[in-house]
Amino acid sequence: MPAEPDIALAEGLFASLSRHSVDEPGHTRDAWGAGEEKAHEQVREAARDVGLEVTHDHAGNSYMTLAGADREAKAIVIGSHLDTVPHGGNFDGAAGVLAGLAAAAGLRKAGVEPPRDVIVMATRAEESVWFPNSYVGARMALGTCPPDLVDTIRRSDTGRTLAEHMEDLGYDPQAVREGVRHLTPERVGTYLETHIEQGPVLVERDLPMAVVTGITGALRFREGRVFGEYAHVGAAPRTHRRDAMVAMAEFIAQAGQAWEEMEEAGHYLLVTFGKVSTDPEMNAWSKVSGEVHWTLDVRSVADEILAEMGDRLARIVAGIEQRHGVAFEFGPDTGPRRAPMDEAVCARLKGIADALSIPCHEMPSGAGHDAAAFVHAGIASGMMFIRNQFGSHNPNEAMEIDDFAQVVRVFTAFAESGGF
Ligand SMILES: [Zn+2]
Repeated sequence: MPAEPDIALAEGLFASLSRHSVDEPGHTRDAWGAGEEKAHEQVREAARDVGLEVTHDHAGNSYMTLAGADREAKAIVIGSHLDTVPHGGNFDGAAGVLAGLAAAAGLRKAGVEPPRDVIVMATRAEESVWFPNSYVGARMALGTCPPDLVDTIRRSDTGRTLAEHMEDLGYDPQAVREGVRHLTPERVGTYLETHIEQGPVLVERDLPMAVVTGITGALRFREGRVFGEYAHVGAAPRTHRRDAMVAMAEFIAQAGQAWEEMEEAGHYLLVTFGKVSTDPEMNAWSKVSGEVHWTLDVRSVADEILAEMGDRLARIVAGIEQRHGVAFEFGPDTGPRRAPMDEAVCARLKGIADALSIPCHEMPSGAGHDAAAFVHAGIASGMMFIRNQFGSHNPNEAMEIDDFAQVVRVFTAFAESGGF
């Protein structure tokens, strides 16, 4: 029988994390601020109490290690983040850290010495609402942050630089400038992360968990424009108008149509126009729109799907330009690269779930997670989702501890076996 995880430890920590970060409605653990720091202190203390080796790196990421039989062998890292968005839920991020702790503590209690080190990692600043960049803490650990990042990005609420926030807490921005790497592909063989599902798929399918096949990449246009011509609403006949708003409406409708067709052809993608606006300085109720600003986000786990949708959007726009005499500009594509999970790790996670008779879905993640930083650093990674009602980034996350426990059983068995 595989060792059982210490779910009671995780339950106690969920409760104490919640108590120390209540910010009605919901919870706030600010990145490289008092809220996140307190959460790190709590998990480090709990890890010390169960006999794990506790350290942190130059960025303040926490590491809680259960020593393996071969300390030179590449380690398994199980991690996620402890920050939240303002007034977020208690489980987004924390579930991944506490899953690792429950697994490591369970193995230690059972007297199991795993074949290789099991390192529970709590990262910093995964939520880019605080600092406008992705997976900053994880990337600092991996040495993949640009050297000037700590001096060029500022926290959204305080306006102070990342370096200043790190120094406040006694961490070392100079190490980031020098590209110090705390985790390397030579040291880490596998990265595992679990996260609450942030959509309705598992609730609707009545399944407790899923193996995540990959994190979607995106086409992301934040500075799209349509240029037409301002005109008098009473004087300009339809056939003489170059109406940017009408062109925009057609663009949205046709992009939606293309999305539907690609889905019907069996391709998974997500298409969203987030912001669409006329220029309030220039436009009025009595004017035909001469300019519309828009943003567009297209996500998929497959590069060829993103490319095909990009081609379709270009053709759609060319047709609308001709018909309405307008001009579209997409601006720069600032979308993140996709991050496919390792097929062997996914197969192993699914195999363990099957062996434990835990029903398990397979699905991509449309949201970014720390695992993407590990994939991009060349480390084989696997992710699992936990069923969760009411989405995330809001106070109503409603993960059931029994669903959490099922995923942790899979991770515990993975760690106990050394992965493969
Ligand atoms: Zn998260």
